[in-house]
Amino acid sequence: MVINDFHLHSTLSHDSDTAPAAFARHASELGLSAIGFSEHKDFDPADPQRDYFDYDKTKTTIDKLRRDHPDLQILFGLEVDYRSWLEEEIAAFLKAHPFDYVIGSVHYIFEYKPLTVQLADQPQDKLYQNYFREVAACTKSGLFDVLGHADYVKRVAEERYGPYSLAEYHSILEEIVDAAISHGMALESNTKALRLGLLEPFPSYDLLKLYVEHGGKKISLASDAHKPEEMCYKFEEVWQRLEPLGLELWQPMAGNS
Ligand SMILES: [Zn+2]
Ligand SMILES: [Zn+2]
Repeated sequence: MVINDFHLHSTLSHDSDTAPAAFARHASELGLSAIGFSEHKDFDPADPQRDYFDYDKTKTTIDKLRRDHPDLQILFGLEVDYRSWLEEEIAAFLKAHPFDYVIGSVHYIFEYKPLTVQLADQPQDKLYQNYFREVAACTKSGLFDVLGHADYVKRVAEERYGPYSLAEYHSILEEIVDAAISHGMALESNTKALRLGLLEPFPSYDLLKLYVEHGGKKISLASDAHKPEEMCYKFEEVWQRLEPLGLELWQPMAGNS
């Protein structure tokens, strides 16, 4: 089974040196029918990458790729670096710029400060609580089609504390899955975590079970690739865990951009 990948970062993001065309070529080699670029868009004034994303340049590049690869569906997505205190600005930006889909992701807790620094500043329970509070706000905003890597904080916390227990954060996690379901969002299963050597994708299988128990179904299996060879990383292996839970692959709606 070939599973398409809708979480890719090219040179149109500040942290990738892969030309967009290289992803399209590799997608054809993998036999994919569709891919999606979800470049980073940052809003925090303290973030030096804030103005890196260029909508018009990205749109022009994707339009050209679409002409060059008529057999591959190429979607124009976006990954927003969500901050609750910048929600109005994010909403205004999304209103003014059409995308095929938008992923809402939390990379920082409240302020532009690497998670490794936040890890040093806060005990485990506070770190996770604060992270999940921001993810809950992201989900409840109703601005996004996909909730990106919902327990990304474990990227720094797992090594020090081991896997977190779902029971400890149960009520905030219920808020998150309920909000995702009521807004019709898909949750992401982001396999970058496996590439980084973590035990499970972002988020944990337990969190996805909770999502299913509450009535959630839609999952975006995503690699978060910054290089062509990272596309679809461990998709088959992870899908074998996800499909029996009753999850269904999310398909973005093309034609908005
Ligand atoms: Zn991300
Ligand atoms: Zn990403």
